[in-house]
Amino acid sequence: MYLIVIDEKKCTICGECINICPNEVYKLEAGHVIVANATDCSNCQSCVSMCEPQAITISEV
Ligand code: SF4
Ligand code: SF4
Repeated sequence: MYLIVIDEKKCTICGECINICPNEVYKLEAGHVIVANATDCSNCQSCVSMCEPQAITISEV
């Protein structure tokens, strides 16, 4: 299982992580991108690569 943290100070709410994630881990809620479904993360790193401001950190827990 993975711990996914979005640094809200860096996140521009571009939505790229929501679009790229094959497992629908992220969603938009009340104007913020949130980690809605971390248990489905396969650590493919696509979201990390797509996130231009490097707001996403994924670590194994
Ligand atoms: S890709 Fe990065 S900057 Fe864009 S919404 Fe996701 S976390 Fe925020
Ligand atoms: S690492 Fe892959 S599966 Fe996990 S949240 Fe990012 S895009 Fe989704």
